[in-house]
Amino acid sequence: MKDEKINIMRHSMAHITAAAVQRLWPSAKFGVGSVVDNGFYYDIDLGEVKISEANFPKIEKAMQGIIEYGDDFEKLEMPIDEAISWAKANGQPYKEELLNDLKRSGTTVAKDLDMDEIGLATDGESAVKTVTFYKNGNFVDLCRGPHIANTRDAGAFKLLRVAGAYWRGKETNPQMQRLYGVVFATQTELSDYLERLELAKTRDHRVVGPQLGIYMISDAVGQGLPMMMPRGETLKDLLIRYMRQEEEARGYKYVETPVLAHENLYKRSGHADHYSDAMYKLKDDEGQTFYLKPMNCPHHHMIYEKMVESYRDLPFKLAEAGRVYRKELSGTLTGLIRVRGPITQNDSHIYIRPNQLKDEFVKVLELFKTVYQTMGINDYWYRLSLPDFTKDKYEGDKQAWMDASNAIREAMQEFGAEFVEVEGEAAFYGPKIDVQTRNILGKEDSIATSQVDILVPYRMDLNYIDEAGNKVKPIIIHRAILGSFERFIGMLIEKTAGWFPFWLAPEQVRILTINNTLNDYVAEIKSILDGIILMKPLRHNELRYSVDERNESLGKKIREATNLKIPIQLIVGQQDKDVREVSVRTQLGEQKVNIDGLKDYLLSL
Ligand SMILES: [Zn+2]
Ligand SMILES: [Zn+2]
Repeated sequence: MKDEKINIMRHSMAHITAAAVQRLWPSAKFGVGSVVDNGFYYDIDLGEVKISEANFPKIEKAMQGIIEYGDDFEKLEMPIDEAISWAKANGQPYKEELLNDLKRSGTTVAKDLDMDEIGLATDGESAVKTVTFYKNGNFVDLCRGPHIANTRDAGAFKLLRVAGAYWRGKETNPQMQRLYGVVFATQTELSDYLERLELAKTRDHRVVGPQLGIYMISDAVGQGLPMMMPRGETLKDLLIRYMRQEEEARGYKYVETPVLAHENLYKRSGHADHYSDAMYKLKDDEGQTFYLKPMNCPHHHMIYEKMVESYRDLPFKLAEAGRVYRKELSGTLTGLIRVRGPITQNDSHIYIRPNQLKDEFVKVLELFKTVYQTMGINDYWYRLSLPDFTKDKYEGDKQAWMDASNAIREAMQEFGAEFVEVEGEAAFYGPKIDVQTRNILGKEDSIATSQVDILVPYRMDLNYIDEAGNKVKPIIIHRAILGSFERFIGMLIEKTAGWFPFWLAPEQVRILTINNTLNDYVAEIKSILDGIILMKPLRHNELRYSVDERNESLGKKIREATNLKIPIQLIVGQQDKDVREVSVRTQLGEQKVNIDGLKDYLLSL
């Protein structure tokens, strides 16, 4: 990934940016930089000078000059002590600090920096004697490469934004300015990306969600604790009902488990030891400790223990729209996508015998496909994460790991799923698949996941009795099709710009009248709408509509209904009444429909 040509261009552009900044502000002190999605950043300390977007044209012009001038990237090797002297002599205290770390411990502790690219020169090997520098024009930077050969090959770029960033991510350290840019191989790709970026801004669920009355965040309640507003709750309820309908048709049993659990449960499951940083802990007045559940699994395992005795009870499928809470740092919170809670998971646990894994996994894949088709998600693929036995230390029986990995791969092949296989990315308890898609900016994103668990039955001592009367361990499939409902709604907003599929629209139809002089006719239309029950994809779904009979102009009413992205507006005037018609207004335009055909017309949408 790192060595892909475009990433080498992005990396090299970071050097060019730094070179341009140095040309404009010769006393600039450089931290480190990195390649990120679609581009790069570089952390720079300019003392009193604060860069703003107003400076971008000037910096970009200097960058363009460097690119057109056509300097080669030259590699230089230097003994570590000489490099330290170089940093000192050139007024680069941050590089000096990195080089001193390197000399002392053989690493610049790149882990703390969450990056490892520009400005660093080691692979973390100890006993560093020499370091490498790269030079383009007059600009020299500590780096291990690789780079493009000449600045002329750097591609098309644009600076996007500048943000504060603490040196090495520590609040007590000096604050630097992090300059971000995007880089593409061609101007066309760059323009295309910038266009999509503009589009994405208009679809950002953090803006559109509250505008549509889907959700809100209140400082009084707390950050990362979104509240579903009436329209959002309608949407979420529809999604929950739809999933339940599909799952119950496939033999899943719905349960409900509490949001709190005693610490003993998490001691037994291992979460108290391995996951406590992500769990909210509560103590009651009797000195007992509880946790807000970060996942539903241990609760479900208790129900398994109660309900399953023999192999005849398997497969055993539990499902829950289960609310969980997770401790998150405030800086990471993002609308509905990353929250503290509630995270209402479309969660399920499928308990099986080892020889049922492949067949049950095919059924899971079938459910993924059915649901995504309904949701209009077609651009997805799977990532199959397997252990890497040459490197990883996996707990448990190696043969069980191999069997599980093979069963999933066979299931994927048999089902004809499009997937990529990645070794070394399995969960610690078993292989898994993630459903991947791209967001509007082309960034890869997971929608949901399904994991095979061969360890927890041992850890929690879950058993069943086989034909021979032996006590044996089941395998568990943890599976979420829509991930969390909140997160899915966030994604759906960005995908549809708030124009949800008809069956999911919180308000599907709004009747707009000039005033209240047409009450009889409106009542007749209402009785038609009351008789409409949608059967697909969610059965017994009554039509959701309202009437806007305020004494306002029709233009204003249409505007409001359109802003709320109500898919169907039924506009009724005196003339319509006279000929027993209504004007049906949708995203596609407006047309007259006879009232006798209205029901069929709406059902055909
Ligand atoms: Zn470099
Ligand atoms: Zn689970």
